[in-house]
Amino acid sequence: MLRVTKFDGAAHWIQPFRVVSDDGTLLVTEYRARTPIYTSRGEFRSPYDSRVYFWRDRWYNVFRLSKPGCSVALWYCNVTTPPRLCGSQLTYVDLDLDVCVRPDGGIQLKDEDEFDLHQRQYGYPDEIIARAEGAADAVAMLARRRGFPFCEG
Ligand SMILES: [Mg+2]
Repeated sequence: MLRVTKFDGAAHWIQPFRVVSDDGTLLVTEYRARTPIYTSRGEFRSPYDSRVYFWRDRWYNVFRLSKPGCSVALWYCNVTTPPRLCGSQLTYVDLDLDVCVRPDGGIQLKDEDEFDLHQRQYGYPDEIIARAEGAADAVAMLARRRGFPFCEG
């Protein structure tokens, strides 16, 4: 189970998943479309199958989203603290910023307003702010040069 919190520890996103592979650094999981997801905004059932890439040493993850039987529709990248896997629980803190990458190469940074608000509301330390901004830049750069996993259609 994926258990995501915000910086204050409040539950933000709880999603079941299946582990596909884990080499100790990169953990790859899968989630099937329509499986219920708990979010702080209510229950959500995604129309997308997702394959999710978590690196234990990176401050972002990548959700590869596709309609069942279709090619990739979108890569949704979340800026977060590095994930921790404890038993079957994967946890991290969501740091608001997201990077949307489209198959046509379009890249969009999202939720900067939320990031600004939460910096004040939760009092993010300077190091967290710098790490989060650096992670958003790093994943956008990786997408721009079609590095893994953005090279996998
Ligand atoms: Mg966000």
